[in-house]
Amino acid sequence: MRLRNIPGSREVIAESEYVIHSEEGCKGKWHKLFGNDNPIHIEIGMGKGTYIMECARRNPDINYIGIEKYSSVLLRALEKRALEPDLKNLYFIRMEAENIENVFDKDEVDNIFLNFSDPWPKDRNAKRRLTSDRFLNRYINIMKKDGKITFKTDNIDLFEYSLETARECGWEILVETRNLHNSEYNEGNIMTEYEKKFSGLGHKINMMIIRYNSQ
Ligand code: SAH
Repeated sequence: MRLRNIPGSREVIAESEYVIHSEEGCKGKWHKLFGNDNPIHIEIGMGKGTYIMECARRNPDINYIGIEKYSSVLLRALEKRALEPDLKNLYFIRMEAENIENVFDKDEVDNIFLNFSDPWPKDRNAKRRLTSDRFLNRYINIMKKDGKITFKTDNIDLFEYSLETARECGWEILVETRNLHNSEYNEGNIMTEYEKKFSGLGHKINMMIIRYNSQ
């Protein structure tokens, strides 16, 4: 997702109490920031934040951190976030996910959500996919042992690539569906913004849930 540059968005973000400004300052200290020992779930590439906000509303005993690289997109999430100051379990960071190991320590993150990540269809850009081996290995360095990654996409090529890459990198596939909305896993599913849009156009939604198998 890329929106037209919005003048002033960087300033609004810089002043927001819902945005973490010192990325590296939080590494290893997230529980302190939230003031509890609840699990930490992150969404990488949250877009306008519709999904992660609904997660935070439904699960007050889970801490959420939404990551987005573009200011113009994060600004949209912040506008919604500001209307719900009572949500104490949700922060945002504007950053490039490549640097995720600078922000979270080993064993700090319980679950990761990747929703409708950019497909980067050309082979030469495969390493940029958020489910490439490079990214999966970064996630291992920040996740708890039994932590899971949930990945949803309407892009079947990206889905097959992601399943194959996860298997090759030693992840266990816990859930694999090529038609989420018609499956047993749809109960309690929170639709993301892209999910609403693409399923509205008749696209099937794929989902995998994977866990790293360190044995
Ligand atoms: N998750 C949302 C948005 C999907 S679009 C939804 O399902 O509705 C993908 C989003 O991921 C875009 O907003 C894009 O800017 C962000 N993104 C893609 N690659 C990223 C990266 N490497 N680091 C941080 N954000 C990224």
